[in-house]
Amino acid sequence: MDVLEKALNGERLSHAEIVSLYHLPLGDVAAVAHQLRLRRSDPQVVTFLIDRNINYTNVCNVACNFCAFYRTKRQSDAYTLDYEHISQKIRELEAVGGTRILMQGGVNPELPFDYYTGLLRHIKAHHPTIRIEAFSPEEILGFEKFFDMTADEILDRLIEAGLDGLPGAGGEILEDDVRAKAAPARIRTFDWFRILDIAQRKGLYTISTMVIGFGETLEQRASHLIKIRDQQDKALQEHQNGFAGFAMWTLQTENTRLAGKAPGATAYEYLQNLAVSRIALDNQPNIQASWPAQGFKVAQTALFYGANDVGSTMLEENVVSAAGGHTRHQATVRELIRIIHDAGYKPAQRNSHFQVIKPIDAVAFLEQPAHPV
Ligand code: SF4
Repeated sequence: MDVLEKALNGERLSHAEIVSLYHLPLGDVAAVAHQLRLRRSDPQVVTFLIDRNINYTNVCNVACNFCAFYRTKRQSDAYTLDYEHISQKIRELEAVGGTRILMQGGVNPELPFDYYTGLLRHIKAHHPTIRIEAFSPEEILGFEKFFDMTADEILDRLIEAGLDGLPGAGGEILEDDVRAKAAPARIRTFDWFRILDIAQRKGLYTISTMVIGFGETLEQRASHLIKIRDQQDKALQEHQNGFAGFAMWTLQTENTRLAGKAPGATAYEYLQNLAVSRIALDNQPNIQASWPAQGFKVAQTALFYGANDVGSTMLEENVVSAAGGHTRHQATVRELIRIIHDAGYKPAQRNSHFQVIKPIDAVAFLEQPAHPV
């Protein structure tokens, strides 16, 4: 039986079989990925989330070579937002029907722990309907060092203050050889999984991620996918709370120290890796297309390469966009509905857990005059 037949039969692929997918004609791999997508999630529906990214500080002591967002505390454009400034951003999200904020910063050694717990309490008090998914594993690792607490204790205190989930940022390629070259001080694979596992045990929302284009080998890409798959098995079995979804995008290096040094990845490679991910991640029903890195057209095409979701509006994305990204750094609801509808699917607004909260009548929606959001 060949590897694609095996995947279609629902059998789990080995590392060598996942690597072999990268050497098959992309059309064949995409056809199987699409079949699996139709089986594992609602075949007629493509979902999206209305959310906002909030980067509460750009001061960071990790200094990843691929990051154009961070600043040292002495740079003139270094910032930390106060609570009211963050509230104002959330009010703008509430005005357009948004349901969650994705709040991440740099790893800022200047802020006291009270800043974080106070911020969560402030947001829950003033914006009770907004879910707060905040502080990537890298930030939690920083908190362990700054505040001399374990991730267990830190997460307990953040949950008590209002935290609903952790972003899966920092996954990139979960192979330490790749990570050490791209960002010597970056969180290592063991700690990324350690912190997300604790979060999953405590019932927090999490998502898995992948970024290609560092010059990683196909074997390393396959290893990354298997590690994500293994953690999903463990989390579902031990915590009944796995990754809600998987998001994958391509490295952007403009304005970074990796510019001209890392190969990045083309649209072909993006779509290929997406299709391979859909096949390899047999325990993950929800796979996002990425428009911030690849643009709307490739994201729409991705709906036939294994994706069942177009991600979110990302009002105010600052990190991928600082390093180039696509020319657009936020999407309107109308634009997301349009690309879903034109691809032949029914659009639906979802929550963070990929549950539909509002099916959209696309024809009626698109007949209305264009609205800024
Ligand atoms: S990617 Fe995150 S951790 Fe790395 S330098 Fe940028 S803000 Fe800091």
